[in-house]
Amino acid sequence: MHIYNNILETIGNTPMVKLNKVTASLPCTVLAKVEFFNPGNSIKDRMAVKMVEVAEQNGWLKPGGTIIEGTSGNTGMGLALAAVIKGYKCIFTTTDKQSKEKMDILKALGAEVIVCPTNVEPEDPRSYYSVSKRLAKEVPNSWYVNQYDNLANRDAHYEQTGPEIWEQTSGKVTHLVVATGTGGTVTGTGKYLKEKNPAIKVWAIDSYGSLLKKYFETGELDMSEVYPYITEGIGEDFVPQNYDMSVIDHFEKVTDKDGAVMARRIAKEEGIFVGYSAGSALAGLMQLKAQLKPEDVVVVVFHDHGSRYVGKVYNDQWMMERGFLDVKTVKDVVNARA
Ligand code: PMP
Repeated sequence: MHIYNNILETIGNTPMVKLNKVTASLPCTVLAKVEFFNPGNSIKDRMAVKMVEVAEQNGWLKPGGTIIEGTSGNTGMGLALAAVIKGYKCIFTTTDKQSKEKMDILKALGAEVIVCPTNVEPEDPRSYYSVSKRLAKEVPNSWYVNQYDNLANRDAHYEQTGPEIWEQTSGKVTHLVVATGTGGTVTGTGKYLKEKNPAIKVWAIDSYGSLLKKYFETGELDMSEVYPYITEGIGEDFVPQNYDMSVIDHFEKVTDKDGAVMARRIAKEEGIFVGYSAGSALAGLMQLKAQLKPEDVVVVVFHDHGSRYVGKVYNDQWMMERGFLDVKTVKDVVNARA
């Protein structure tokens, strides 16, 4: 019998699950690394705990201190779990684009959540970056996490996610597909896998409205690429320091609609109730079908759980209002209104 001493010890060693129906049109094997099995229901538990541990070791976070971060929810969840177990307070700033469910979950774990407007420049004093930075100066005994530039983020994936994928595929993995935001997952995991086998291809999935793909291809920070989009957790309007672009072979953009539709298909066809970015990751892979061969073993990271998107991607009305779901039958309309 194995008893965990606390919930943090259950982080990692998530299952790898073969996709069967949704990827039937692809010639290769597709495996999903299902990260919602982490206690906070997302991959971000891994980096959250790692960042806290490094902060403790460096004396940035002291007993009874307050953890401050701008987070869309998943990182906050991981930080909140660590805070509960290790005895810290948490204040998170987030944007009004994020699911209400995500914010309520953070509050359930004792965190204070401050909602800021989405469509303002990062430098604007109202932005969630600016508000979190200001609080970090004002709140005594506080530590500002900064998941974008805190390299413990990518280190967590180099130390955990990469080795797990290598071992679970017995070194047979040929492609890694990751929807990317801070760059921690794709950089850390991709770096580890490429050190094991430099032939492994790393494909990063970006959203329309983000400048990451253009930056990867041209080295330019082209702000004309940046506009509001709906997909949560991926894409950026700047390039976080967690990126090592040399680890990435290709960037693929996926529309808000294609990501949402694919998330629903993963739930319906595979019984894996995933979040929005998992849909984007798999939709991106489908767009790259022409580059795949029968012997390929593709690992797609499924970052989080669908429960956080029940009012959005998994709500027919929400989908229809955005033109993501075609109204084919009267029954659809009636169900959506119910
Ligand atoms: N998907 C979801 C749901 C996320 O919360 C995040 C984190 N922002 C990502 C994908 C991207 O991961 P990373 O920040 O490691 O690039």
